[in-house]
Amino acid sequence: MRRPRIAAAVAAAVLFAAVGIVLALTTPWNPLPGRVPGGHAKADPALDFTPAEIARSRAFDSAVNPPAYAGLLAGLVLVAVLGFTPLGARFIGWTTARVRRWPLRVMLAAAALTTLLRLAGLPFDIWSEHVLRRYRLSTQAWPAWLLDQLKSLAVTWVMYTIALLLLYALVRRFPRYWWAGAAAGGFALVVAVSFIYPVAVEPVFNKFHSLPRGPLRTELLAMARRDGVPVKDVLVADASRRTTSLNAYVSGFGSTRRIVLYDTLLKSPPARIESIVGHELGHAKRNDVLWGTLVGALGVAGAICLLHLLLTSPRLLRRAGIDPDAPPPAPPGRSPDARGTGAANPRSMALLLALVAVGTQIGAPVQNLVSRRIEARADAHALDLTRDPSTFVSMQHELSVRNISDLDPDAFEYLLWLTHPAGPDRIAMARDWARMHGTPVPPPLNR
Ligand SMILES: [Zn+2]
Repeated sequence: MRRPRIAAAVAAAVLFAAVGIVLALTTPWNPLPGRVPGGHAKADPALDFTPAEIARSRAFDSAVNPPAYAGLLAGLVLVAVLGFTPLGARFIGWTTARVRRWPLRVMLAAAALTTLLRLAGLPFDIWSEHVLRRYRLSTQAWPAWLLDQLKSLAVTWVMYTIALLLLYALVRRFPRYWWAGAAAGGFALVVAVSFIYPVAVEPVFNKFHSLPRGPLRTELLAMARRDGVPVKDVLVADASRRTTSLNAYVSGFGSTRRIVLYDTLLKSPPARIESIVGHELGHAKRNDVLWGTLVGALGVAGAICLLHLLLTSPRLLRRAGIDPDAPPPAPPGRSPDARGTGAANPRSMALLLALVAVGTQIGAPVQNLVSRRIEARADAHALDLTRDPSTFVSMQHELSVRNISDLDPDAFEYLLWLTHPAGPDRIAMARDWARMHGTPVPPPLNR
C-alpha cells in the first residue's frame, strides 16, 4: 500500500498548490485599482444609518448568532463523534444489517446518516426561523417551512447517493488507485452539478418567470448590450413566498446561465434595480460562476486524494470501529462481501462524512475571503456601468436595512459567514469610485 499512498500524497500536494497559485494570481485582491484622490473613504455605519437602524441590526445579530453558532458546533460535534469513534460504524451496521448487496448498503447508510445529521440540526433551524419571524424577514407558515426542509433533505439524499455510489464502486474495483479515478470523477461531478443546478435544483424551491415587458426590462437588456454581455432574459423568482429580504444572483454557466431577481426587489425604484443588475452583469462578464466552479472542482479533486490517505490509514479505520482487513458482517446465512474491506466497507461512510465536514470547515474562510473580493469587483463593475454612485449607495443602504444585515461584523463573522463585504464597506467603495472619477461624492445619508 506504500506506493499508491505516496502517489496520492503527491497528487494532493500538486492539486492544492495549483488551487493556491490560481487563487493568488486571479483573485481581484484590489477590486478598485488606482489611486483615490484624498485617500480612501472610511467604512462607518454611523455615516449612513440612523441610530435606530444600527440598534436594530445589532439586536438582530445577537438574536441570530446563538442558533447559528450552536447549530454549527452541534453539527460538527455529532459528525465527529460518529466518524472518529466506532459509534457511526455501529449506527450504519444497525441500519444496513438486513441487506448484503453493497449498493443497497451504501444507499441506506447515506440516507440514514444525512437524515440523522439533519434531524440534529432541526432544533437550531427552528430557533433561527423563529428569530426571522420575529423580525418579519420570513413570510412562511410552518407547514411550508417544513416542506422546504423535506425538499432540501431529498436533494441532499440524491446528491450524496450518486456521489457515494460512484465513490464506493471505485474503491471496491481499484482498492489501491481509486483516488485517481475519484479525483477526476469528483472534478467532473462538481462541474456537472454547477451546470445543471439552475435548471434541476432551483425550480424545486422557487417558480421563475421572465421579467415582464416594460421600461424596466427594456432598460436592463439595453444595459447588458451596452456592457457586451449576451443576456437574453432576466428571470424573477417568487422569493416573497419565503422572505421579505432583497436579493439577486447569477447561477449556471454557458447555456444554463441566468440572472435572477427576487420579486421582493421589484418594488424598488428602477435606477436601484439597474444598480443591482449592473453588479450581476459584472459576475456574468467575468464568468465568476464558471471560474468558481473550476477552482472549487480542483480543490475537491485535491481533497479526494487526501481522503485516500486518511481512509486507508489502519489507525484511523480502527478508531472509527472498522477492521482494516475484514469485510463487514453478513446477514445470517449469507457469505461476507470479500471486496468490502477497509475503506470499501460502507461502515467507513461516517468517517468519510466527518473528514468532509472538517475539510469543508477549513476551506470556508478561504472561500469567503476570495468571494468578498469577487463581490467587490462586481460592485466596481456596477459603478463603471451605471456611473451613478449615489443610487448605488442608496441601494446598498436599502439592502442592508431590509435584510437587517450586520453593519459591523467581527473578525469571526467575516471568517465564517461573510461572502459579501458588509454594507458600509460597499458604500465606502462607491465614495472612492466617485472621488476617482471626479463625480460628486455621495453625501452621508444620515443627515
Ligand atoms: Zn454578487
